[in-house]
Amino acid sequence: MPESDCLFCKIRDGLIPAKVVYQDEDCLAFEDINPQAPTHVLFIPRRHIPTVNDLTAEDREVVGSLYIGAAKLARERGFADTGYRVVMNTQRDAGQTVFHIHLHLLAGRPLHWPPG
Ligand code: 5GP
Repeated sequence: MPESDCLFCKIRDGLIPAKVVYQDEDCLAFEDINPQAPTHVLFIPRRHIPTVNDLTAEDREVVGSLYIGAAKLARERGFADTGYRVVMNTQRDAGQTVFHIHLHLLAGRPLHWPPG
């Protein structure tokens, strides 16, 4: 899919509105439109990367920034001790629906394991 058709690239570019809650040089985070927990935030790289399969060694810092951003927001929202989940769905069987990688941050309720 070309970057111009990507939903999350459009959010990154301000073409589709989203509630942005965190950003840094490499990543952007916004509230999920259909939250599955009291906190459900998506951390995306600014650069279009379709799936985890497409990551290369050059993306080390970018991927790190997604996790560092998620941990920072989780701390700010008071979840450092109670806990939270960070997860990146990849391809059909994991339920990936938007093909621009995104780290889900879920928190604010007990999260079951294994997920469905
Ligand atoms: P996936 O299923 O690919 O792991 O996650 C995609 C996520 O994007 C879903 O949790 C879905 O609710 C969210 N989402 C889909 N469309 C939009 C949108 O237009 N805006 C926002 N903020 N989130 C979206």
